[in-house]
Amino acid sequence: MIFQSSLPRVSIPNTDIATFCFEKGKKEHNSSSKRSSFAIVDGPSEKQFNISELEKKSEEFASGLTHQLNLQPDDVVAFFSPNTIFYPIVSLGTIMAGNIITLANPTYTSRELAHQLKDSNSKVLVTQSHLLSVAEEAILLSKLNIPASHIILVDTFTNPNSKYTHIEQLYSFLPFKRLSITTEKEADDRTAVLFYSSGTTGTSKGVILTHKNILTCAVICTSFLYSDGQFQTEKYPNCYIAVLPHYHVYGFVMNMIIGVSTATGIVVVPSFEIGSFLKMIEKYRVTYAHIVPPIVLSILNYSQAHKFDLSSLRILLTGAAPIGKDVLSKFKKNYSDKIVIQAYGMTETSPTVTIASISQQNNGSSGILLSNTEAKVIDENGNMLKYNQTGELCFRGTNVMKGYLNNIEATESSIDRDGFMHTGDVGYVDSTGNYHIVDRIKELIKYKGYQVAPAELESLLFLHSDVSDSAVIGVYDKKQATELPKAFITLVPSAENLPQDQIEIKLNDIKKWVDAQVAPHKKLRGGIQVLSVIPKTASGKILRKDLRNFEAASQKLK
Ligand code: AMP
Repeated sequence: MIFQSSLPRVSIPNTDIATFCFEKGKKEHNSSSKRSSFAIVDGPSEKQFNISELEKKSEEFASGLTHQLNLQPDDVVAFFSPNTIFYPIVSLGTIMAGNIITLANPTYTSRELAHQLKDSNSKVLVTQSHLLSVAEEAILLSKLNIPASHIILVDTFTNPNSKYTHIEQLYSFLPFKRLSITTEKEADDRTAVLFYSSGTTGTSKGVILTHKNILTCAVICTSFLYSDGQFQTEKYPNCYIAVLPHYHVYGFVMNMIIGVSTATGIVVVPSFEIGSFLKMIEKYRVTYAHIVPPIVLSILNYSQAHKFDLSSLRILLTGAAPIGKDVLSKFKKNYSDKIVIQAYGMTETSPTVTIASISQQNNGSSGILLSNTEAKVIDENGNMLKYNQTGELCFRGTNVMKGYLNNIEATESSIDRDGFMHTGDVGYVDSTGNYHIVDRIKELIKYKGYQVAPAELESLLFLHSDVSDSAVIGVYDKKQATELPKAFITLVPSAENLPQDQIEIKLNDIKKWVDAQVAPHKKLRGGIQVLSVIPKTASGKILRKDLRNFEAASQKLK
């Protein structure tokens, strides 16, 4: 059967995401005196913009892209930065100018960034001074022609004679042709953002999200979270803490797009550290936090947590990875005044497709299907299953991506002929319409909510002279509430018969060699283990399930 959302259908505006954010955001801001005075604030430094400043600066940025950098419609601007109050200006300004924004993880190595720059054919790179050396090296590796004038810095303005362009120098007041989307076809067709995700298999691919895709998610989530006032707070203006990275679709849409368009203040935290996270919640009277499971655990395990006044914090919405029921109930016991709900989705669905209601917060489910979205659960042969039957979850709606950039094959193997996105996640729908995620059949590993593609680590390992074959899987670490990437390898004959202590040294070297070439979340924290053979099917496909079973059995023996 095809499962329909039980929530009322909502209409998705045929407009662009910048116009949506600013028009709705200003209206919301003016409709009540109980709104945060800032649209976005840098937590530690208190530097901030209100919504009118954000809009004005986005327009000036858009004008600069058009007049100073001479960008043509649909040219791609890459943004390589930790969370900053400039995030809405750069991304929404790029959209206003009729360009496409691609968001990159600021912890990427030059090799990883080069892949994204090249694949997206970026014409401009917006970054911060401390990331310049990685950025410069990535541009060289990508062989793209991005001159220094097209490297835009969004941090402190120090040297006006620098060869790079500071954002203050880019702002322009000249009129520019602002993107205007008026028809459903344009909203459906026009690319807004290119996120990077490995999807169900292989390495990182450009996920094409259109204006319609992103607005669908923003509208169906806002409708669920705000329409009946159940998530509204009485005492304080709504305020988010943006600790999740904005380069990931979860932070971008759930914090930034929904934050700006609902006139919810956004407190930017450039990186997560438990003490300063709690301090920011106290200082800005944060009411709502989008988080990932390890943050729930960090709060629980932090012995100083009671020293902070967290009374304003009402809702914690956790997603991007599974959370254990035991962690949830322990949190509820210690923080009975807070609501912790799970949400589920993926980059390819813009992202959120289910959110738990307050009454379901404790049952471990990821919630109910949001408005306008349909789902099916299928078995291995593609047959549709019924309530309480476990299979692969698939979703359909205008929140499903247009496809993978320049990769028809991957697109066709992910979105079926009926328009359903095959998630690679295994779950079921219970009789109350709540979705439960129980397993993952795709290759993806999630380290603290960050994507790790086994195929990428395997292709790196393949380049090492001591490794003849490899397979990488995720192993669950209960203490940190996350999966850790672990490599199984076979050694080349010359290394195979070495004494054990020398093999240990080699494994250490291999681990170091891999870790030096990848962003921190991809490091082989689960270790490396030598096998005599990597289990594979007759056609050469790695039998990851066998490795997972083998790992589980070894853990039991320990
Ligand atoms: P991403 O594209 O980085 O957002 O990753 C999406 C994947 O994260 C999903 O396909 C799931 O495997 C996993 N995920 C997201 N939310 C949840 C959740 N609430 N429970 C379990 N897994 C989740």
